[in-house]
Amino acid sequence: MKKGCPVCIDENTITFSENFLRSEYNAKLDKAEAVGATRLYKCADCNSDFYKEKSMYHKLTERSKQVLIAFFKRDLVLNKMFKDQASQIGITENYNGDKLIPAKIELNNGVVHEIARIQLSKNPPMEFDFDSFESIVYMDEVKSISSSDFALSKEIREESKNADELRMGFYPTVLKTTDNRKVVINSLALFFDSHQIKGSDLELANETFDFTNDQYIYEALLKEVLVIARE
Ligand SMILES: [Zn+2]
Repeated sequence: MKKGCPVCIDENTITFSENFLRSEYNAKLDKAEAVGATRLYKCADCNSDFYKEKSMYHKLTERSKQVLIAFFKRDLVLNKMFKDQASQIGITENYNGDKLIPAKIELNNGVVHEIARIQLSKNPPMEFDFDSFESIVYMDEVKSISSSDFALSKEIREESKNADELRMGFYPTVLKTTDNRKVVINSLALFFDSHQIKGSDLELANETFDFTNDQYIYEALLKEVLVIARE
């Protein structure tokens, strides 16, 4: 048995199961505060915070702890107006069953974001590296949502979600502009903004990815605003 929790032993640990913990570690994980229907745990040795979902422990960073608490404490459910706007834009479900809506949003403080991923989920979206987003916004800060010029159509999103893996980690979908430039996105994408091409300029090319074509335009890494909403 190892003394301490998995994070005491390896600080890069992010998640581990109850079974793994019990069988290999002699750890003191104390129950800390209650958040919504769940509880946070704290390691008595290294002071790491954990969130327990089913039989898995997830390590919390300062940021993810804030998100978790906000998810349960704030009013993040979409009202009727937002629901109507979301269904006009088109909702795409990811593999977790979370609902994704690519939108332009205006916040109560007047700030406008053109590349905002509204993530509507039943459970706190703890799978993210929150630092990879432009910023994090909560649904109760949003005044209005509308369609974004940078968003991909629902048809494209659905097609890209179901794309075949042609190479390790590569699930291409070929798109085209009205002047017939070909663009390739990899797996489920919500937005496009590269080479002066916006998501709304694109439609499905309805052709398979061609390994010999060196003219394809690829997506650039986009900084999205993550909008956290609760279903
Ligand atoms: Zn520990």
